[in-house]
Amino acid sequence: MLRCYRSLTRFFGVTSTLTSRTFSGLRCRECGHTYEAEARHVCEDVCFGPLEVAYDYDAIRARTSRASIEAGPASIWRYRDFLPIEGDPIDVGTGFTPLLKANRLARRLGLKELYIKNDGVNMPTLSFKDRVVSVALTRARELGFSTVSCASTGNLANSTAAIAAHAGMECCVFIPADLEAGKVLGTLIYNPTLMAVRGNYDQVNKLCSEVANTFGWGFVNINLRPYYSEGSKTLGYEVIEQLGWRLPDHIVAPLASGSLFTKIRKGFDEFMKVGLVDEKPVRFSGAQAEGCSPIAQAFAEGRDFITPVKPNTIAKSIAIGNPADGPYALDIASRTGGNIAAVNDEEIVAGIQLLAETEGVFTETAGGTTIAVLKKLVEQGKIDSSETTVAYITGNGLKTTEAVSSVVGQPLTIDPKLADFQAAWDRAQSLQRATWESVGV
Ligand SMILES: *Cc1c(COP(=O)(O)O)cnc(C)c1O
Ligand SMILES: [Zn+2]
Repeated sequence: MLRCYRSLTRFFGVTSTLTSRTFSGLRCRECGHTYEAEARHVCEDVCFGPLEVAYDYDAIRARTSRASIEAGPASIWRYRDFLPIEGDPIDVGTGFTPLLKANRLARRLGLKELYIKNDGVNMPTLSFKDRVVSVALTRARELGFSTVSCASTGNLANSTAAIAAHAGMECCVFIPADLEAGKVLGTLIYNPTLMAVRGNYDQVNKLCSEVANTFGWGFVNINLRPYYSEGSKTLGYEVIEQLGWRLPDHIVAPLASGSLFTKIRKGFDEFMKVGLVDEKPVRFSGAQAEGCSPIAQAFAEGRDFITPVKPNTIAKSIAIGNPADGPYALDIASRTGGNIAAVNDEEIVAGIQLLAETEGVFTETAGGTTIAVLKKLVEQGKIDSSETTVAYITGNGLKTTEAVSSVVGQPLTIDPKLADFQAAWDRAQSLQRATWESVGV
């Protein structure tokens, strides 16, 4: 029915926004071979490289301007000319999250100008994954899929289940069985079919590839991956626009598969290419957890290939042992003069606390990883204090309370009496003075 309507409007030459599209199809990132804009992700005809969406940048340049973007909705859909969809988007208010000027954290670290891009308050499920899923499910609907699925480290399951519910699509998602309670409950509430697989993410992903081939479903990060990954570009566009149409000097972002990292770069490059922002170099640094750091290890050893690892870290949302976009992330970090570093679980927890106490932002373990790596790179002189730096916070701390429950202390429980309060307050004050003295304030 929908397809019928589309071909009719095309036949009669109706040029409504409904049929306007700025992408031509898919193109292999390795050999350049092109394919129709279908549900496929590898270059099956030639080299088995990954496929990427190909755009008509002249068309985009002709129809977009800073003003046209600023007049758009306060969501990722203000950039829809740069996204691989044809019709109306599935609009759950995703994107345009705050870019916070982090003065107190900057001072603590010794940076002049630091910003936090806070996707921990993204809609609808409080992580950056809402961006990629909004795009993937819109495209899935256009391609005629009624059942959608994903292989997830947690946040993707939340997002896919929620946005599928909103769009009225059948949903079955796969997670490793040992995920945080918040991620499991935050998926189940939308009533999808949830498969908890006894195994790590890489095993879940392999199973999902087999299911995708057998069941013909739309897997957002497998056969729909070229569309899905484009959603991350909006994290590049938004930062440019929110900085007043300028590029930062240095960005720090977490790496799981490495896709987000490479797509922030693509977003920056596209805005330069179509003239929306002045060209300038940006250094790209990536953050991993030591317990799953195949990209950081390759970077440290100067390799251009990834040796897969078995994940063992509290940063489960970024625990991918065999990262598909690892080689591309390595290439970007080295070509831009950035770094890829890893921090241990203790440093990750300290990173979560530091961001919360200085900026009032409660992030999950992936964000703790990013802040801990930011701190490390500044201390090592690998981020210069004069660089305008953006740290990407990709998820919300309320989903991984296990990580910090033992370090946050306890409330002071009192009876509803002024005298009780007075005594407890005095005790708290002297405790605080003792702590300050012990750290030499
Ligand atoms: C998925 C995820 C990432 C990174 O994902 P990529 O696979 O590298 O694109 C980062 N942070 C959080 C919180 C995530 O859920
Ligand atoms: Zn190819």
